[in-house]
Amino acid sequence: MAGNDTIFGKIIRREIPADIVYENDEVLAFRDIAPQAPVHVLFIPKHDPIATLDDLQPGDAALVGKLVLAAADYARREGFAENGYRVVMNCRDDAGQTVFHIHLHLLAGAPLGHFGALGR
Ligand code: 5GP
Repeated sequence: MAGNDTIFGKIIRREIPADIVYENDEVLAFRDIAPQAPVHVLFIPKHDPIATLDDLQPGDAALVGKLVLAAADYARREGFAENGYRVVMNCRDDAGQTVFHIHLHLLAGAPLGHFGALGR
């Protein structure tokens, strides 16, 4: 979905600062500006600013998988995979989506409760 520019597009282009913690060819990850847990990182696609989960097409399956795998890789590297973590993707208003460039929240660093951080 070309042309869907958001604040995350500006972060990808380094037009505004972000605390970037992970990057590969297709995924960028940076700390959330309003963390809901001791670790709160957003994983976003760099080249496909799809607005919502509801806009995903079958051809996007690999892209979504890469977001999930990047988060799992990051959790292992940072040493909190064994204690556990939560991933969340919010879709539209009832889930509280505020940035319309799909993103996966990774929350960790403390017991999160059911549903606490970003489970809304
Ligand atoms: P959503 O509510 O759409 O699922 O998540 C969007 C997230 O982006 C929110 O948790 C919000 O704090 C974060 N966010 C919004 N603007 C910025 C920004 O400019 N920088 C960073 N690092 N995070 C942002």
